Amino acid sequence: MDKHPTIENLLEKMTAYTNQSNLDLVRLAYDFAEKAHAGQTRKSGEPYIIHPLSTAMILTDMRIDPIIICAALLHDVPEDTNVTLEELNKNFGPEIASIVEGITKLGKLKYRGVERYIENLRKMFIAMAEDIRVMIVKFADRIHNLMTLDALPPPKQYRIALESLEIYAPIANRLGIGEMKGMLEDLAFKYIYPKEYEATILLKETKLKDKEQLLKNVQEQAKNEIGEAGIKIIDLHGREKKMYSLYQKMQRKDNDVAKIYDLVALRIIVPTIADCYASLGVIHKIWKPLKGRIKDYIAQPKPNGYRSLHTTVFVEDGEVVEFQIRTPEMHEEAEYGVAAHWHYDEFGARLPKKEIRWVKELADIQKNILNRLSDLEEIKVDFLQSRIFVFTPKGDVIDLPEGATPIDFAYHIHTDVGDKCVGAMINDQLTSLDTELRNGDVVEIIIDKNRKGPAQDWLKFVKTNTAKSHVKNYIKNKHSKLSDFFKYIKPGK
Ligand code: MN
Repeated sequence: MDKHPTIENLLEKMTAYTNQSNLDLVRLAYDFAEKAHAGQTRKSGEPYIIHPLSTAMILTDMRIDPIIICAALLHDVPEDTNVTLEELNKNFGPEIASIVEGITKLGKLKYRGVERYIENLRKMFIAMAEDIRVMIVKFADRIHNLMTLDALPPPKQYRIALESLEIYAPIANRLGIGEMKGMLEDLAFKYIYPKEYEATILLKETKLKDKEQLLKNVQEQAKNEIGEAGIKIIDLHGREKKMYSLYQKMQRKDNDVAKIYDLVALRIIVPTIADCYASLGVIHKIWKPLKGRIKDYIAQPKPNGYRSLHTTVFVEDGEVVEFQIRTPEMHEEAEYGVAAHWHYDEFGARLPKKEIRWVKELADIQKNILNRLSDLEEIKVDFLQSRIFVFTPKGDVIDLPEGATPIDFAYHIHTDVGDKCVGAMINDQLTSLDTELRNGDVVEIIIDKNRKGPAQDWLKFVKTNTAKSHVKNYIKNKHSKLSDFFKYIKPGK
């Protein structure tokens, strides 16, 4: 994208996937927004219209529906100009006006600090339940704000970047919009962890250079043999791991880059599900797979709907390479998630509107979380620490204080789950019970029905009051039962 995109650039990109009457509508929306914002400038000194135009441009790169592009062009009009929502309604109809209204509602945050965080989340949950398109524009709006963050004073940079990492990116992830989640994280990363950001760039560059030739060879061989097996390859490309995601994984793997197998993954797109499994077979016939690294997300999709086959194989010189195998439909879903319905593929087709389970459950989530969050007094006591949002394997959202462990999670679910907890899977990986959970983790608790109760040791690392008090109570009761028992055993004569 040019530093200053123009409406011509935008329309030109859209010609690839939409018709003339839609292009006319988009131009009208642009002219309207430009007039409304006339004379306004951004902190950087640029004319204000650059911002809504760039927001629309980000969505155009994703080949998003023209109605949403119009809403993106108009998204700051009611908030920042004299033009009202009614006027938008009159000029562009209720559909565009209601998306813009949703975005305007998200923008008005009254609180600061923790309360702001919660208010923000609550509003986003409501917006998502009402119209996902509002969030699609909001993500693009935030992405452009992050791209131009340098113009703001450092404390504001930090706040916006943190909010993006802690609220926007996890929600984009939950909605399956991998493309936007990655952009939000990588843009916010350098403002929150500048040193780690630099180190990650360096690490990535060095490692990638080392692997370049190897990957080329592997890619070539895979292509030939899959082709020889009679499978039509639609696309085979390397995808580099995103910066922030690499940084997070490094932390989980004791900063040992040798343990990161998917720095670059080779992605194979084939026509059908049967082709996916057949290609996996071909790959395993050429190279030996690593134990425990074959993942069938087609038979068992991730909670956010992600589907693919993953495998990591040994290639030459003890090097390993990860493959991700999927159909074009799975690929669109992985990049665009719920937004896939409003995204046009190269043939001008859209995926059917798919209800993602999590979106369906939003109503419940709202009831459960939002009602609890509405008691501000409780929030002050319970939410003073920053919060993380983690998920059950079914996709239910559980909110916990930062630093919380699987034990805290278990007690949050149910006392019995806590008492009988013996292990935990975080994002499908078996982990120890004192592992700190991170935003967006999917946590599964392993219980042993025969377990008597919690261990005293747990007090060393649990974070929530609920977990602490359960463990303490149990220990107290156990001791009092023991002393009761000893009362009956009289000392010898
Ligand atoms: Mn904006």
